[in-house]
Amino acid sequence: MTTRVWDYLAEYRAERLDLLDAVETVFESGQLVLGDSVRGFEEEFAAYHGVGQCVGVDNGTNAIKLGLQALGVGPGDEVITVSNTAAPTVVAIDALGATPVFVDVREDDFLMDTGQVAAAITERTRCLLPVHLYGQCVDMAPLKELATRYGLAVLEDCAQAHGARQGGTIAGSTGDVAAFSFYPTKVLGAYGDGGAVITSDEAVADRLRRLRFYGMEKTYYTLETPAHNSRLDEVQAEILRRKLKRLDTYVAARRAIAERYVEGLGDTGLVLPKTVPGNEHVYYVYVVRHPRRDEVLERLKAYDIQLNISYPWPVHTMSGFAHLGYAEGAFPVTEKLAKEIFSLPMYPALSPDLQDKVVHAVREVLSSL
Ligand SMILES: *Cc1c(COP(=O)(O)O)cnc(C)c1O
Repeated sequence: MTTRVWDYLAEYRAERLDLLDAVETVFESGQLVLGDSVRGFEEEFAAYHGVGQCVGVDNGTNAIKLGLQALGVGPGDEVITVSNTAAPTVVAIDALGATPVFVDVREDDFLMDTGQVAAAITERTRCLLPVHLYGQCVDMAPLKELATRYGLAVLEDCAQAHGARQGGTIAGSTGDVAAFSFYPTKVLGAYGDGGAVITSDEAVADRLRRLRFYGMEKTYYTLETPAHNSRLDEVQAEILRRKLKRLDTYVAARRAIAERYVEGLGDTGLVLPKTVPGNEHVYYVYVVRHPRRDEVLERLKAYDIQLNISYPWPVHTMSGFAHLGYAEGAFPVTEKLAKEIFSLPMYPALSPDLQDKVVHAVREVLSSL
């Protein structure tokens, strides 16, 4: 059987009774939309982050989009982020009619090179949008300082960084707003789509509650500014409540798997992920580098192991973002990394046997090059 890069079935089988009980709880509650489960999850997720407010939404892309909108970002505004991210980060900015402005990343840890941000700020810049890529935080101190100096907002894209920390501070609690995805593969994953925005700013949270509900206050059935429907589903919210209790356990399991990869592959010449000092990595994905990546992947095909590339095409090179006007070569580090990276299987329930199979295969292939 193929060893998959991510698989939820082992986890489902282990947690089955609790998850089915979550579904039953909602079905029996008499309230299928925006009921006790969404409210409960919002309270618990906010408390987990030590912030006052959480608004559940339908997915991570809308969490970013509505988060930006609630911060006042709109048409013509510029948002500084990276091209080395999942396309939805940029889709969300673009959907508001705002302009994504990219800076390059650092070669050793794949994260936003915050030293390049000041030069990218113009009078139209409204927001800085760091992406805590692969499960560890972008350096927040320099971004906060720039935000204060230039009067900008900061939105953290935490879609890959549930439970990550920097200097002991949990990801998502440093910026003005943080956006989360609960897409099933994420460190905290639903059994379908889901997302959330957290903030300590009550006015921002109030705007978010209207933005996910046609523009209405739920209790006043009239509105001033029309919006879409972007509610978090009640069943997914109850599942997320159950899984939030286990988030720290999932993270510990991911770290143990990462340690085993270091033991098994540390001497092979493969470049393994670097954790920035002060960061606590949650290993959403386990991304490694090799200069002959395509050849390595080709030879690994014989071993029946699924290996992903996150992400093979930097966003600025996608034809759908040609209107942004970036040429190939604009972000040399991002472009180089895209050609050298690939991901090894990583999920909490990955068994030691399967992991040994992966390590063995990678070792054989690398020694055959
Ligand atoms: C998954 C992801 C998103 C989008 O989340 P969805 O729930 O799939 O819409 C946004 N940004 C990053 C960095 C992601 O990994």
